[in-house]
Amino acid sequence: MIMFYGMYGLFYDPTFILVLIGLGLSVLASSGVKRNFNKYSRVATMAGITGAEAARRVLNAAGISDVSIESVAGDLTDHYDPRSKVLRLSSSVYNSTSIAAVGVAAHECGHAIQHNRGYVPLNLRSAIVPVADIGSKLAWPIFFGGLIFSFQPLLIIGIVMFLAAVVFQLVTLPVEFNASSRALKMLETTNLLYGEELTGAKKVLGAAALTYVAALAASILQLLRLVLLAGGGRRRD
Ligand SMILES: [Zn+2]
Repeated sequence: MIMFYGMYGLFYDPTFILVLIGLGLSVLASSGVKRNFNKYSRVATMAGITGAEAARRVLNAAGISDVSIESVAGDLTDHYDPRSKVLRLSSSVYNSTSIAAVGVAAHECGHAIQHNRGYVPLNLRSAIVPVADIGSKLAWPIFFGGLIFSFQPLLIIGIVMFLAAVVFQLVTLPVEFNASSRALKMLETTNLLYGEELTGAKKVLGAAALTYVAALAASILQLLRLVLLAGGGRRRD
């Protein structure tokens, strides 16, 4: 049984368990990323080049010369910014010659290559960003208003807004998996990683991909919770 302390004091909300399951999946996935990243960030590659150098070589091999590579603060903050065509690597990737660093750098190059080649899911994802942003911010307040006033249209609007955020996470999956498969292919053909090293990079990138799967699962569980709460609200009328 789950008691939930809300605006009206303590009330019984069994659907809260869905949020907890989602949270558990996300925690498991992110600990998997940290474990794999830490393990392979201690193993240097035979090629001995840094993440930043590896990124430049992968981009060159892909015929991309208009993307700059910068260092960014924080851990696991690596990303490709399509608007300014900048590949930002965290310092533990930028300056490191480890398998993890080279793997992550190549993954971000995967996104730059997707952008360069006009990969449809990436463009679709960029187009959904603003809608998903608004949806994820306003879904709960609107839905909660619907619960308080027992007003069904607000409940439905809240659910639809949350759905936009779920669709965004769904479109993120092919984008992420594709970036990693492009990365591994490039690392192999450019001889930046050999044999066992490729297996290590695959593990790091596979663990990172799982965090997106967990985030999607958590969102779907939350969506299910909203639908259950909306149904329960109607029955009380
Ligand atoms: Zn990515």
